[in-house]
Amino acid sequence: MSELKRFTGIGVGDSSTWGIAYVLAPRPKAPVEAKSKLGADTESKRLQEAISFVVEQMSETASKADETTADILHALLAMLEDPALVEEASVHIQQGWDAETSIQRAMNGFTELLAGDDLFGERVADLQDLSLRVVAKLTNLQWSMTLPKVGPVVVVAEDLSPAETAQFTDVVVGVITEGGGPTSHTAIICRQRNIPAIVAVSGAMSIPTGEGVLVEAFKGEATLSEKPGNFDNQKTQRPRIGEPVAEVKGNVGSVQDAIALAETEATGVGLMRTELLFLSRSSAPSLEEQTELYSGVLKEAPEGEVIFRTLDAGSDKPLPYLGIGKEENPSLGVRGYRINSIDEDILNTQLKALALAQEKTGRPVSVMAPMIATVEEATAFAKQARSFGIQTVGVMVETPSICVVLDQLQGIVDFVSIGTNDLSQYLFAADRQNSGVATLLNPWQPALLKTISRICVDAQAVGIKVGVCGEAAADPLLSVVLAGLGVKSVSMAAPAVAKAKDYLCSVTKDQAKAVAEAALTGKTPFEAKELALAALPN
Ligand code: PEP
Ligand code: MG
Repeated sequence: MSELKRFTGIGVGDSSTWGIAYVLAPRPKAPVEAKSKLGADTESKRLQEAISFVVEQMSETASKADETTADILHALLAMLEDPALVEEASVHIQQGWDAETSIQRAMNGFTELLAGDDLFGERVADLQDLSLRVVAKLTNLQWSMTLPKVGPVVVVAEDLSPAETAQFTDVVVGVITEGGGPTSHTAIICRQRNIPAIVAVSGAMSIPTGEGVLVEAFKGEATLSEKPGNFDNQKTQRPRIGEPVAEVKGNVGSVQDAIALAETEATGVGLMRTELLFLSRSSAPSLEEQTELYSGVLKEAPEGEVIFRTLDAGSDKPLPYLGIGKEENPSLGVRGYRINSIDEDILNTQLKALALAQEKTGRPVSVMAPMIATVEEATAFAKQARSFGIQTVGVMVETPSICVVLDQLQGIVDFVSIGTNDLSQYLFAADRQNSGVATLLNPWQPALLKTISRICVDAQAVGIKVGVCGEAAADPLLSVVLAGLGVKSVSMAAPAVAKAKDYLCSVTKDQAKAVAEAALTGKTPFEAKELALAALPN
C-alpha cells in the first residue's frame, strides 16, 4: 500500500464508500482527418461493417443488461441505426474522405444541433461515444470496459459516457473522474443511482488499479487507504418525521418523463423544458404539435402545479431557423427569452399552445421564461403570457442582474425559479460546459448560497414565491439548506425525488433553518457542506 494520498474534487452524494480502484483505460484518440486511399465504395463498405459490429456488440450487452440499462442502450442503438447518419456520412465519403473522418464529421453535424445544456449535453456525449466506438473498430483500436466480477469496485476514469455507466453492475460502489462537473452526465447518473462519486478530480488517472480507495463524497475527497475498521458501505437513510419542509417537484422534458415522474412522490412539475420538440428540425413545431405535447404532459404529470418553461434555445443550442447567426460568445448572446427580440412568433405560438392545452385538459398551466435579465423583460413577458389567459406567471433567476431587482417585480410575477446551473455560470463567470472551471460551479459555493439567501429574503418581502429547479436541488442535503433559506419548492429529475423527499421530511422548519444558517457560515464549498451536515439532526 502506498503512503496515504488524497485527491479532491466535487463530491456527488453525501455518503462514503470504500472499494478497490479499477482504472478505465483512457479513451482512444480519434485519428486526424484524412482523404481516402481506397475509394468511395470501399470506404462505404468499411463504414457499414464497423457500424454493424458496434450495433451487434451493444445489442449483446443490452440483451444481458437489466431493464433500465437495456433501455439506455437501445436508445443509443436507435441513434446509430438512424439512416440519416449514414446518409450524412456518405456525403463526406463521396467528397473523398475516409470512413473514419466521414462518420466523425456526420456525428459532429448532429452534435452541433444538440450541444448546449445538460439535458442535451448528455445526448452529445452519447453521440460522441458512439462515433468513437465506430472509429475504434475501423482502426482496430482496443477499447473495452470489462469490470471485475467481484467488488467492491471504485471506477476511476477520465470521464464516463452513458454507454459506460449503463454497464455498471452492483460491484461498482463508487466513482472518481478526472473530468466532468456537478452537472455532468457522470454526476447525474451517479446521483440517480445513489453511487457516491467525486468528479473533476485533478490527477485521478494516477490512482493505480488495485489500490484501496476511500471515497468521501460529502467532502469531495478520495484517499488511497486500507479499508477503515468497522467500515460498511451502507447508504445513509433519513427517517421521515412529518411533511416535507419544501415541496418536491420534478423536472421533465417529454410526455415520457411526465409518466415516469408520476411514479414518484413528486407533487407536480417544477420545470418542463420545452426545447426537445424544437431541436433536430428545420422549422419550428406547429401550434398543433405543441398543443399535443403540452396536453400530454398535463395529462400525465403527477398532481400539483405544472410549470412550463418557454423555449430556452440559442447559445450552444442553435436552431438554424431562428436566424440568430454566429455569435462570438453565444452564452452571453441571444438565448432564452432574448429570442423574442428577433422573433415574437415563437413565444406567441408557445403561449397560445399552452393556453389551448390548458383548455383541452382542464388543468391550469404555470409558465416561466428563461434568461430574464431586467424588470422590463419580466414585465413584458408576464403581460404577454397573461394576455393568453395564463394566470400563474414567473421568471427564472439565472442572471445576477435580476437577483438585485427582485423587489421591483412585486405585482408583476407570481413566482421565481432559480436555475442554479446558469446562475452559477453567470455569477462566477465560469462556463458550465468547461470542466476546467468546475470547482467554481460547485453548488455549495458560499457566494451562490448567499445569493440564494438574498433572493429568498427579497422575493418573500414582496410576496413572490421562490423555487429552485437547477441541478443543486437534486443534492438532498442541499435541498434542506435551500428550504431553510426560504425556498418553497425544489424540482429535480425523477430518480432524485425519493431521496430529496426523505431529507426534507426528516427535519422541522426550524431545523432546516439552523442547517441553512450553519451552511452560510462556511468559507469554502467543503466547509459549507461540512457545517450543514454537522447541523443536520441525526
Ligand atoms: C438552470 O440553468 O439551472 C436550469 C434549470 O436550466 P437549464 O439547465 O435547462 O439551462
Ligand atoms: Mg438555465
